Parts: sequence; C-alpha cells; structure tokens
Amino acid sequence: MKTFEPYLFRKQFPLLQNICSPRHDKDDQHHAIVYFDNAATTQKPLTVIDSQQDFYCQYNANVHRASHQLSSKATLAFENARTLVQGFIGARSIKEVIWTKGATESINIVVQSLARNTLMPGDEIVLCTSEHHANIVPWQIVAEQTGAVIKILPLTKQGYIDSTKLDNVITDKTKFVACAHISNVLGRINPIEKVIAKAKAVGAITLIDGAQAVAHLSIDVQALDCDFYVFSAHKMYGPTGIGVLYGKEELLDTMPPYQGGGEMIKTVSFTQGTRFNSLPFKFEAGTPNIAGVIAFGESINFLAPLLADISKSYQEYEQQLLDYCYHALAKIAQVKFIVEGKPDIGVIAFTLTGHHNHDVATSLDTYGIAVRSGHHCAMPLMAHLNIDGCLRVSLAAYNTKVEIDYLIECLNKFLLNACLEQEQPDENGSGK
Ligand code: PMP
Repeated sequence: MKTFEPYLFRKQFPLLQNICSPRHDKDDQHHAIVYFDNAATTQKPLTVIDSQQDFYCQYNANVHRASHQLSSKATLAFENARTLVQGFIGARSIKEVIWTKGATESINIVVQSLARNTLMPGDEIVLCTSEHHANIVPWQIVAEQTGAVIKILPLTKQGYIDSTKLDNVITDKTKFVACAHISNVLGRINPIEKVIAKAKAVGAITLIDGAQAVAHLSIDVQALDCDFYVFSAHKMYGPTGIGVLYGKEELLDTMPPYQGGGEMIKTVSFTQGTRFNSLPFKFEAGTPNIAGVIAFGESINFLAPLLADISKSYQEYEQQLLDYCYHALAKIAQVKFIVEGKPDIGVIAFTLTGHHNHDVATSLDTYGIAVRSGHHCAMPLMAHLNIDGCLRVSLAAYNTKVEIDYLIECLNKFLLNACLEQEQPDENGSGK
C-alpha cells in the first residue's frame, strides 16, 4: 500500500468540504469546518454514504425472508458485512458477530441476558474509574436486580487502569470484569491483556468496551481472549445506529435471547412454545438496520486496509497529529491537562484555567471549530479528578496540522478577548 496521504483521505469526506458561515471577526475569511469531535462520532466517507443510498435505490428488501431476487441481493450484502466484521476483529466464526444498535446495546445484552441470570447476591462486578456511562449504568441496574456489588479498578496518575492493583480488586468473588480498551476522555490504551488474564485466573467473564479503540488499533479478539468485545460503527467512519456484540460462541450459546420477535426463531407454536434460531440470529429480533449494516461493511472496507498496512503510515499520521496538537496546547499557559502526560490516541482532555468549558467550546464554535465540552458521559471520572467537566479535542486522520494551528490561534483569541473584557472599565470606571 502507498504511504497514507492525509489530504487525499480528507477529500473522501463530503461534510469536511463544507464552508462554515462567516465568523464574527470582520477580517476573518470563510473556512472549511474544523471537526475535532471524532470521539463522539466520526464523519463518513462518500463510499459509506453511497452504499446506503445504493441499497435504497437498487435493492431495498428485507433480509433472510423472501425468495425474490431483491431479498437475495440484500441478504448477500448484509451477511457479507458480517463476514467483513468477523475478519476485522479476528473472530473465529460469523456466529460470534451479533448486530446491535451500538456499543451501548451490546453491553445491555450481555448484562441482561447473561449477568442477570447468573449473578447472585454478594457476587462482584469489576469496572474501572474512567468508564463511559454505557459501561456503568447497565451494571448498576443488574447489581440492583441481583444483589451483586460493583467494585472499581483505580487509575494511575497518567490515567491508565492501575495493573498493580488488579489483585486487590479482582478476587474469587468477581464474576464479571468490564472495562474500556481506551477511555473516551483520557485516550489511554488500558492494559487490558493483564486485566483479562487476571479475570480469567479467578474465572470471571470479561467484557471489553472497544468503542474508542476500533478506529485506531488492529483488534484480534482471539489473541485478547476476552469473552465479549463491543463497539459502534459510527466511531469508525460508519453509520449511526449499528454496532457489534462479539461474544465467544460457547457463551452466546448458553445465553437466552435478549428480545423476542421475528428472525430470532426457528418455530413458533401456541401449543409447543418457541424454538429459538441459531447464532447469531437468536439475538437479532425483528427487521435489522439493513442499510446500516451494509454501509458498516463499507466502512470496514475503508478502514481495514489502513490499519492492516504494514508501513503503519495511517497510525503514524494519527500519532504525528496527536504529538503536534498535544505540544501546541501545552504551550498555552492556561491549558491544564486533566491527567499527567500525553495520551496514546488523539483524545486530548483539558481545562482552561479561569474559564468555563462551555464558554470556550461556544467561542470555538463561532470560529467553525467543533470540540466537545462537559462530562463526556464519564461523571464518575470527573468526580475522581475533582472537576465538573473538561474540554475534549479528539482527532481523526482527516484532521491536519493547519487545523490544529487554527485551533491554537482561536484559543489564544478567546483568551485575549476574555482578558480585554476583564480590563474594560465598568460604569464606575474600575475594571470588571
Ligand atoms: N463506550 C465508550 C468508551 C464510548 O466512547 C461510547 C460513545 N461515546 C460508548 C461506549 C457508547 O457508544 P454508543 O453511544 O455508540 O452506543
């Protein structure tokens, strides 16, 4: 494969070609949108957008049901996407790839189908301080339902799961260990291999939330040997409303369905009850998001070669951007990173001393720069760090150093304007 070409890559994303409405400074020019909210969702390349349109225009039909040509074509494309995902994460079988609405639903399936049926009062569920709410709240619900107890893995000062504390938290009482591969706020690659090994040593089931990892790392679920791995298409250049629950076949086989309906059955009878379908369909009740699945397949076609490229030039470019952005932000005196050191992927969280996060984000928005401010669905992490929120700049490989320079320029403008406002005499003649 050729070296990664950021500008050619960027050209494939129609939204990024859009020009923002003029900014408020009179000498500013129109500017293409600067999108730094990629941890929330990435933009979509034309191939992904086109594949949805193509489905609706050319072969829209339901899957697995009818004997007509349209349905056969739709089914073929739909199942081809499953095979693509299987290859992308190194699953043993397509039976281990379940379509869901996204990482959140995938976690809820494991929690309600498996954990709810196996947890006993006093059993322990281990999570980590920096989890996204999607990997906290379902466990709190099941803890309430079963009498199980939640234990928390602490973080190091740099924001990683502290692997020296695993023995203290993961014990014979632990039945489930669920943690993020990469936190959506801290951007650190957690030592999940060690967490999984410790969990296995005590016989606990492992669930890895890969929502932030899949766009940046090559994933091999068999090498990781986790029981479940979950992620969403929309954070890896794919559409919203579709995601994956990977689970080991032997475990999925033991789990009852999460929802009932069409598609997930073999036979239904008022007298003899229902026999469920085999994997993966047992967990896919109702008409699925067919267009979403097919477009997801396109996003795998788009991303997989970049991650598999032995020259690693896609990942190197992401690292260059991260380096550049992190060091440029570090030069601003008021920037305070929320944990020590540089993140592993382009998710950079900080506060600006003396300024409210929302004011900063709103100001950047007037310059056409999209960043996120708030608690980032990680309120326990915010409480742990003793902050009520932060700003997050999250990068993707279509971002450029020019955009980062522009971000820094606009942050400095914000700081200068805030300073001038402070100095402005009020009605009594004194500064504000
Ligand atoms: N886990 C992590 C680490 C995330 O970043 C997100 C999305 N922000 C989720 C889970 C939930 O993903 P979704 O909303 O697509 O279900």
